[in-house]
Amino acid sequence: MKNVVLLIFLFLSATINAQEKQYRAEREKINNLVHTKLKVDFNFEKSQMNGEAWVTLTPHFYPTNKLVLDAKSFKIHEVKIENKIAPYNYSDNEINIDLDKTYKKGEEYTIYIKYTAKPEEVKQKGSVSIKEAKGLYFIDPTEEDPKKPTQIWTQGETEASSCWFPTIDSPNQKTTQEIYMKVPTKFVTLSNGLLISSNDNNDGTRTDYWKMDQKHAPYLFFMGVGDFSIVKDKWNDLDVNYYVEKEYENVAKDIFGTTPEMMTFFSTLTGVQYPWPKYSQMVVRDYVSGAMENTTAVVHGETAQQHKGQLIDQNEWEGTIAHELFHHWFGDLVTTESWSNLTVNESFATYSVYLWFEYKYGKDRADAHMYEDVQTYFESQSEDKNLVRFYYQDKEHMFDPVSYHKGNAILHMLRNYLGDEAFFESLNYYLIKHKYGTAEAHDLRLAFEKVSGKDLNWFFNQWYFGKGHIKMDVSYDYNTLNNTVTVNINQKGDIFKFPLSIDIYEGERTLSHEVWVEGKESSFTFPFVKLPKLINIDSKHVLLAEINDKKTLDNYIYQFNNAPHYLDRLNALEEIAENQTNKEAFNTLIKAFKDPYYEIRIFALENMDLFQKYYKKEAIQKIENLAQFDKKTLVRAAALGVLGKLVEPIYKPLFERGIKSESYAIVGSSITSLYQIDKQATLNAVNTINEDVKEHLASSITSIYIQERDKTKLPFIANHVLEGMFLTNDKRTQQIYAEAFKWISESGNKEAIRNLTNDFVELGLQYKKYNFDQMAINMLNQIVRSQQEANNPNKDELIIILKTGLSKLIE
Ligand SMILES: [Zn+2]
Repeated sequence: MKNVVLLIFLFLSATINAQEKQYRAEREKINNLVHTKLKVDFNFEKSQMNGEAWVTLTPHFYPTNKLVLDAKSFKIHEVKIENKIAPYNYSDNEINIDLDKTYKKGEEYTIYIKYTAKPEEVKQKGSVSIKEAKGLYFIDPTEEDPKKPTQIWTQGETEASSCWFPTIDSPNQKTTQEIYMKVPTKFVTLSNGLLISSNDNNDGTRTDYWKMDQKHAPYLFFMGVGDFSIVKDKWNDLDVNYYVEKEYENVAKDIFGTTPEMMTFFSTLTGVQYPWPKYSQMVVRDYVSGAMENTTAVVHGETAQQHKGQLIDQNEWEGTIAHELFHHWFGDLVTTESWSNLTVNESFATYSVYLWFEYKYGKDRADAHMYEDVQTYFESQSEDKNLVRFYYQDKEHMFDPVSYHKGNAILHMLRNYLGDEAFFESLNYYLIKHKYGTAEAHDLRLAFEKVSGKDLNWFFNQWYFGKGHIKMDVSYDYNTLNNTVTVNINQKGDIFKFPLSIDIYEGERTLSHEVWVEGKESSFTFPFVKLPKLINIDSKHVLLAEINDKKTLDNYIYQFNNAPHYLDRLNALEEIAENQTNKEAFNTLIKAFKDPYYEIRIFALENMDLFQKYYKKEAIQKIENLAQFDKKTLVRAAALGVLGKLVEPIYKPLFERGIKSESYAIVGSSITSLYQIDKQATLNAVNTINEDVKEHLASSITSIYIQERDKTKLPFIANHVLEGMFLTNDKRTQQIYAEAFKWISESGNKEAIRNLTNDFVELGLQYKKYNFDQMAINMLNQIVRSQQEANNPNKDELIIILKTGLSKLIE
């Protein structure tokens, strides 16, 4: 699963720490699933599903005459065992069945259950602090909302598949499957495996029969139903299909088209050919997470559907596409035996994005991505959490920046320590040994040990079964009599053992050293011929570490010009940007305009101070050049943004041309820049942009509407406040929208208040599982208070709108 809403993590971590936690073992295997056959049809009026299930099982080891199946909020009509009516007891979301005899290991039996699944009534037993997921989702089932297509989709992870079929809902179970889905003929369907047949029932319905012969875990089952365009692609002989809304048919391949190349890349990298019979991806509405790796039937949230103008700038979903695909090896083929060991699924899926970027776009792009992931982990305040965690309050809490972002960085360290050949051969060994089965973190360790011949207990103990990360201060003692330098490492907090790369730059020569750091304090002495211009600690930038290393501005300038890693350049520029009054520093920032990696060019542009005295003219010429000719539209957009700050009327034609660009980033920054020199021309230009495109330029346009204090635009602004405040990591955007939120909260604009209320209700209900409804309630109450204080003439009417929204969240 890919969670995109990072703020949800942060919201979660703030609310759960005080909760009591209990030991979470792998679920005991008494009976094992063998095969699951389902026949289903849907009641759109009631948002229910009628089902018949044939579940074949066998005892795991010990003979047994009892079976417990998970089945959440069902109405059970009939239970049979081997075609005979069977006695059962259904309570607390479990069906307890007395088998007709004692079965032995290997002896199979089939249970038949006729039932109605009622996802709207799902309640989790026990804990009430986390809302239960309902597994089966009906979107606008009675076709009331003109803005929404009618869809049905499922979300199994973690244990919600048992909301729509009886099963042993645990990741350590695996079953083959077949599903007969009866749907209105106007809809298409998607499920796991192959579509074997599709029969018209001549009553307005059709029955699609999906079958998968390879076994997988119940949480990976999927059904999707709706009016989708199916855009077809191929990988070798296998079908690769993209299910999108009709409007996105033409861009489906721009969004998903790298999938076949990824399948080849991951097959080669792991040495295990993509092991499933097809690969489909579907984009659904109101999805409850980012995306999900249902075997051969991946689901994506609607953010995946981007316009051409966004895709020209960057396909923001490409990493997620890689993540879900790589799960088809790590997660679907070899599955975590318990949520405590989630790292064997999620850390690999997260690392696949690094691997893909490195292969496809080069190391800088991959390293920049890793750096963001590491920052996400640092900011999440998760230092007290082990990667493998046997104590947690709720299984949903395992889907956090430790399992994803930190685990990703840990794999990167391990790869660097073992070397590429040993690392990838170990992955191959692990996948083959455990294919179609389950594993835990120790299985990974054993695979790496087996292949490399190295003991790795020390590594796993500190990184998988331990908490925190490396924190160290670095200092240097130079001895100019002996021509030596001593590097002192002082660890703070948890003490780690790790290999450390140190590069010493003397000008003519650079020497790379590798040392081992163990214990709180370590010192390493190196000879030099000429006094070093730079000593680069962790020069490969592979450690999950916070390093406090005091360097001079000269060091940083030298580092920018000579050290190769993305972070060498970025960290140097961060310091250089703070010292632009220094001539050489400013000059270096200009040099960064030519950096091969676009994010470095953008950093230099966004941080350049054009009001200082050096080389101003030369710098501006270069920015003009970037604004027109850089090969990345995102760089052109950033350059246009800088020129806008100069408030020079000569650039008016450039910005006016920019507003007509295909790239949304260029249009957005041209709007903002033009507004600085000609407000009316900008407003006129904005009026000519089509409404649909405007939605995607909301941050530029909203900021203008806010500055104009244009009350007529409040409803438009209200539609974007939520995403601006909560679904972006950009601080400036968050700030603009927080201001807009306050403005709307105090306004008497009924439409704006209604838009904002609806957005909060929708988001709150959609992410109820993550307690987002609580956040929505707090925010709406805040607006109620603002209204009471602002005392608008229509405040009673507005408060009714707000309270109606609140009641939907509270029920
Ligand atoms: Zn995932």
